[in-house]
Amino acid sequence: MSQVIEFDEAASHFGPPQSFPEPAQDDARFEQLRNDVAAGLMYAHGRENANTSKVLEVASFSYALIELLMERGVISVEELDERKKQVGQRLSEKFAEKGMGVALTNDEQDKYAYEGSAEIDCENRIALCRGACCRLSFALTVQDLEEGRVKWDLGRPYMIRHDEDGYCHHVERTSKRCGIYDNRPVVCRAYDCRKDTRIWEDFENRTVSPDLEKLFPQRETTEDGQTLYQLTRTPANA
Ligand code: SF4
Ligand code: SF4
Repeated sequence: MSQVIEFDEAASHFGPPQSFPEPAQDDARFEQLRNDVAAGLMYAHGRENANTSKVLEVASFSYALIELLMERGVISVEELDERKKQVGQRLSEKFAEKGMGVALTNDEQDKYAYEGSAEIDCENRIALCRGACCRLSFALTVQDLEEGRVKWDLGRPYMIRHDEDGYCHHVERTSKRCGIYDNRPVVCRAYDCRKDTRIWEDFENRTVSPDLEKLFPQRETTEDGQTLYQLTRTPANA
């Protein structure tokens, strides 16, 4: 419940009465934000460490090889420089295509122009599937990021953000409807659960997959009080 602080509107320059969240609610939000930022930093530092050690390894091999080839008169400095430019260009294009190590869904097409969405009677099936499609992981597009409406996982850029319960941050928990339906990512628009064997064994006959429960992992609490999940996230292109 919100604590309401009354203002005398005529005497105030600050507009109408405002409501402020309970301090406990604030603390929980701050803690969540802190955890998100910490997860993001850990991800960034982990990547940085892994990249640095790979770069060192590759550089050592390259320099050793170049030195040997030059010592034996197989290549000249000029040839090496010219070839280095060409290879550098090729690799830059390749890295750019792959989003430089972060997950991104290709968005050649404007999501608002997408017309291939499947017609599925979700409201008649939600009791069976429990909205499992909104527990799947996928990468957002540049369009989503620029728009800023769809939240991404700070610990795993730029995957859709999931909450503690494993559902997409944007699912309305009771109805399992999408809370950002008009702005939902293109992956959600294009997704068709009818042939997704993680969810349906037989879509027409309304038989859920024996694997459905894998999308609803049970929490396990270890002896030292930590909460573990049995499920790891699915790949970006799942
Ligand atoms: S799994 Fe299929 S039926 Fe269930 S909510 Fe998602 S799209 Fe609808
Ligand atoms: S954005 Fe909407 S449709 Fe897409 S996974 Fe989240 S809740 Fe589901």
